[in-house]
Amino acid sequence: MATLFEMSPRCQELHKKLTDFVQNDCLPAEEVFESQVGKGDQRWKVIPPIMEELKAKAKSLGLWNLFLHKGYPEGPGLTNLEYAHLCEITGRVPRVAPEAINCSAPDTGNMEVFAKYGTPEQKQKYLVPLMNGQIRSAFAMTEYAVSSSDATNIETSIERVGDHYIINGHKWWISGAGDPRCKVYLVMGKSDPRNKDKYRQQSIVIVPADTPGIDVIRPMQVFGYDDAPEGHCEIKFTNVKVPVSNIILGEGRGFEVIQGRLGPGRIHHCMRAIGMAERTLELMIERVTDPSRRTFGKILARHGTVAADVARMRIEINAARLMVLQAADKIDKTDAKGAMRDIAMAKVLVPNMLQRVLDLAMQAHGAAGLSQDFPLARFYAGARTLRIADGPDEVHIQQLARQELLRGSDIRAKTAAMKIRRQEILAKGSKL
Ligand SMILES: Cc1cc2nc3c(=O)[nH]c(=O)nc-3n(C[C@H](O)[C@H](O)[C@H](O)COP(=O)(O)OP(=O)(O)OC[C@H]3O[C@@H](n4cnc5c(N)ncnc54)[C@H](O)[C@@H]3O)c2cc1C
Repeated sequence: MATLFEMSPRCQELHKKLTDFVQNDCLPAEEVFESQVGKGDQRWKVIPPIMEELKAKAKSLGLWNLFLHKGYPEGPGLTNLEYAHLCEITGRVPRVAPEAINCSAPDTGNMEVFAKYGTPEQKQKYLVPLMNGQIRSAFAMTEYAVSSSDATNIETSIERVGDHYIINGHKWWISGAGDPRCKVYLVMGKSDPRNKDKYRQQSIVIVPADTPGIDVIRPMQVFGYDDAPEGHCEIKFTNVKVPVSNIILGEGRGFEVIQGRLGPGRIHHCMRAIGMAERTLELMIERVTDPSRRTFGKILARHGTVAADVARMRIEINAARLMVLQAADKIDKTDAKGAMRDIAMAKVLVPNMLQRVLDLAMQAHGAAGLSQDFPLARFYAGARTLRIADGPDEVHIQQLARQELLRGSDIRAKTAAMKIRRQEILAKGSKL
């Protein structure tokens, strides 16, 4: 386990640079960013100018595309474990820092799809501008009409007609689709709905955002937050036509692609969630040790229950971080598929931890904790989202339970052997 904490000299240097950048540039920019988001009819048109300034600074510092691990020649050559330490720092300012270093969802997952499965032409057209931070992207899987946590339910049709695919479907909660910089969608649908293998019915196609037939109907809100300028949008695809060269990997290989994409995406969310939890704990400590805030003759931290909450938060964050680092390490030692179990465990544990930590911090802040004066309410919306997005808790738990329970016959056989052995020992009069 000790090796999980080791950072190469290069990673240590990046860690220091990124910590300074997030603390001295991103954190002070957080409120500026929110104030620059467009109002009224500008809401989905304006990109806060501070973001481009931050991106330029991050690039000049070499803090750019850190997520694309050393398996890809296009990336900066870090391991997933090294990135876990760095990604955590960006989670402290989640609306600003990840994008400032070009490591924000859903682009990271989409870039990894292009890097892993893209043809040279697809890479040139989409991966290059995404990695330069010139355009943004969206991943369109979830559908309005069907339970999408079981992706075999997806109904969007991808029908081949000559040299083109014709796409018809109704998606929603498509993150990033409200952003004027979003130039490309990866759309999941069924190209072979009658295939007997229900995991070979799906394909993923590249759809340029300006293709005729795409109707972005409305941005959805989470607890009232619309997350402009990116947004999470409801979209209709009506007879949307793209060339067959826009397929990713090949027809019927959609599940393979999403498995490659969602694993790393999920663990990145967990890494950032640890950073969010650390900032939450700092806000808590700052508030409860404030000498001017006293109840019943003491500062809040002097009340035993409040102090115990602080300790509990520390324990939960540290435990969750270990699980995230372990999953990242496993991805390095196998691959995203080999680490599925560890990623699933982290994906359940970490958002629940973050939600509890936020709840305790909000309680200690009193009414202020629920207000716009602190980031806690927005963080809470994010934590609650993570328990549903990229697969709800229950789906991961079901898969984990299935794997654990597979050990049942082995464990029963071992117990039976132990009982026989016990009888033998008893029969011999306890001489081993
Ligand atoms: C802010 C936000 C951003 C999102 N971004 C994207 C995006 O960019 N692209 C995209 O495609 N989607 C996105 N989503 C959608 C998200 O991935 C889905 O909402 C999620 O996969 C669940 O699908 P569903 O909403 O259809 O719920 P359903 O599949 O209908 O599931 C509903 C509930 O049923 C329960 N359930 C399901 N399966 C089981 C089971 N096996 N055992 C017990 N209970 C179960 C769970 O409690 C689950 O929450 C986003 C969602 C949010 C909130």
